[in-house]
Amino acid sequence: MKLILDRLTGTPSTFDYEASAAWWRDRAREARDEPLEVLQPFQFLLRAHRMGEDVLCEGSFEGEVRVECSRCGSRYPHTLREAFRLALEPARNRIPADPESVEALTRSGLCLGDEIEAGWFRGTEIELDAYFAELVALGLPVQPVCREDCRGLCRVCGADRNAAECDCAGIAEGEERESPFAVLATLRDELQGD
Ligand SMILES: [Zn+2]
Ligand SMILES: [Zn+2]
Repeated sequence: MKLILDRLTGTPSTFDYEASAAWWRDRAREARDEPLEVLQPFQFLLRAHRMGEDVLCEGSFEGEVRVECSRCGSRYPHTLREAFRLALEPARNRIPADPESVEALTRSGLCLGDEIEAGWFRGTEIELDAYFAELVALGLPVQPVCREDCRGLCRVCGADRNAAECDCAGIAEGEERESPFAVLATLRDELQGD
C-alpha cells in the first residue's frame, strides 16, 4: 500500500488495505520466514495525518492464519488482531546506520528505527507493505497452543495425550530421555529456546 504524503493534512485520513495470502507468501519469502497458510486475508485499517512535518499513522489489522501447536503439533486456525502506531519524521540528509535501512529508505521511502513504532521517511510517498508484513510477523504467537489445556504429546511414546491416556505415566524422568520421542521433545524445546 502506498501512502501519498502530500495529500495528508492535520486531520486524520482513513485508509483500508486488504493483504491476500499471495501477498504474505511474497513477503515471507523475502524475509525467509516459514510461509504460513493464510485463512482470512489481512485487513489493515490505517489513519494517517500530518503533525508539522512529521507523519503519524495508527490503526489495526486482523486476519487468520493456520499455526502449529507447540505442544501437540496439531495445526489450527489462529486469529491475529493487533493495533499499531507509527511516528515518522523526515530523514532529510540523515543516513541510517545499517545498509538494510538505507536500502529500505531508497526503495520504499520508509525505514524503521530500532523500535517498530518510529522511523524516517523520504520523498512524497511511502510504501507500507514491508512495514505491514513486519507487523504480521511480530503478531504471530511465539509458542502457539491449540487450547490452554492442551496436554501435548507423551514424551515417552509420542501419543497425543489429548486423545488418549498412555501407560507411560509412571516412568522415571531418566528413562524418559532414552526414548527417541523424548530426545525429539528435548531438542524441540531447546530449539524454541524458551
Ligand atoms: Zn495442542
Ligand atoms: Zn506414552
